[in-house]
Amino acid sequence: AKHGNGNSEYLEKIPDVKFTKLFINGEFVDSISGKTFETVDPRTGEVITLVAEGDKEDVDLAVKAARKAFDHGTWPRMSGFERGRIMNKFADLIEQNLEELAALDTIDGGKLFSLGKEVDIPSVSSMLRYYAGAADKIHGETLKMSMELQGYTLLEPVGVVGLIIPWNFPSLLFFIKAAPALAAGCTMVIKPAEQTPVSALFYAHLAKQAGIPDGVLNVINGFGPTAGAAISSHMDIDKVSFTGSTEVGRLIMQAAATSNLKQVSLELGGKSPLIVFDDADVNKAVELALLAVLYNKGEICCAGSRVYVQEGIYEEFEKKIAEKAKSWVVGDPFDPHVQQGPQVDKEQFEKILYYIEQGKKEGGTILTGGKALDKKGYYIEPTIFTDVKEEMIVVSDEIFGPVMSLMKFKTVEEAIERANNTKYGLAAGIVTKDLNIANRVSRSIRAGTIWINCYFALDRGCPFGGYKMSGFGKDKGMQALYKFLQVKAVVTPI
Ligand code: NAD
Repeated sequence: AKHGNGNSEYLEKIPDVKFTKLFINGEFVDSISGKTFETVDPRTGEVITLVAEGDKEDVDLAVKAARKAFDHGTWPRMSGFERGRIMNKFADLIEQNLEELAALDTIDGGKLFSLGKEVDIPSVSSMLRYYAGAADKIHGETLKMSMELQGYTLLEPVGVVGLIIPWNFPSLLFFIKAAPALAAGCTMVIKPAEQTPVSALFYAHLAKQAGIPDGVLNVINGFGPTAGAAISSHMDIDKVSFTGSTEVGRLIMQAAATSNLKQVSLELGGKSPLIVFDDADVNKAVELALLAVLYNKGEICCAGSRVYVQEGIYEEFEKKIAEKAKSWVVGDPFDPHVQQGPQVDKEQFEKILYYIEQGKKEGGTILTGGKALDKKGYYIEPTIFTDVKEEMIVVSDEIFGPVMSLMKFKTVEEAIERANNTKYGLAAGIVTKDLNIANRVSRSIRAGTIWINCYFALDRGCPFGGYKMSGFGKDKGMQALYKFLQVKAVVTPI
């Protein structure tokens, strides 16, 4: 790949951030091996910049810095109120650099610039503020154990944590993990995804400007089997919080089990159902279904990619969703009229096209879409399959792209059974005006989030995470803060 014209202009606007380096102990440093890799703009396939390729030795250095900051530094020892003050400063700096940060995620990952500006980056700063406000409200309990004994509990930070994140929400997922970990008083080594390594370095720089002490927040770019595996198998990391595929989640758990039995929390894949009942407003349901599968170009773990529509409205729904999907605007993510940008990289682009071919081979009918756009970059048409069932891989596998399976059902029981017929359990959507049905189905579906008459209604305070093979350990909300704390009981005779 050759260096693109116009890509590096976004990086040159931020001369203090060294995109070709790692961030260890408060400094931008070269990787020990001196190796680098290319990160590519999915709009063009051209290189944005070279990025330092961290490996085991770099992870070791970052863990040493994090350990020193944890065992001897001020961060875990200062008051929660003071940590919160610094985290709010961090949020201020992020807000001041909102456009630049959004642009970095757009050139690196193909995310709509408007989405970055209006959703991702504002959510990052509000997440920091949410946990900043919680940092001085971490309290233990007092226990009257018997006439002779009393005790109390201390909630202490877990220690040095490894945070491994994927590429679909490079900013948001960084802070879903880093914000509660910071509030708890942990120190950390963060490994961004190799597809989207740039914005994390800007955040590291801003963390330092905000006054987060050296060694508390380290960023190691690099690949999963090397830098990632070095984190999950490290003997001096106390916990790994991972977001990514179910396959890699399993490797992380194995590495934790065979190293130091570090704690793990896993946010993994999904293949979430959206169930539309006969009494639904068809136009609204169509809009919701398109949002559920096309938001962030389908690159979202909780995408509603299996859509079940009850037979009474099925024909009308199918006709309307085909029309709407055909007029969906795919193109340059900086263009404000565009609804869907390019897929993150060539590998993901080819994987999605492979699944579309498989779906056809298995006997599925393409209602709309089904191919790449005839232009440079990794653009794919919104694609809807009909005549499919749960056994087909296009319905059972997570595709992570703009591909929907549209299916018809008769009864509530059938909908519940088919919705649950998956190894995943991340989310589900229900569209109905009938409260009894909505509540009954909500209870019967084995998934971590249920959206009734909405989809992707996410909030920093609302716990998010999977059932079944979608993982365990919630992100967001107070539950995520407790994930980075451990309980010590202190007992004394009276
Ligand atoms: P991935 O699992 O391949 O990679 C995710 C991260 O893990 C990357 O940083 C990667 O470098 C690292 N990694 C890869 N191999 C590793 C190893 N052996 N040891 C340690 N780290 C390793 O996932 P992906 O394909 O990049 O991302 C898409 C997946 O992420 C989808 O399955 C999606 O559902 C999931 N996801 C889940 C959530 C959630 O909250 N549940 C959110 C976003 C994405």
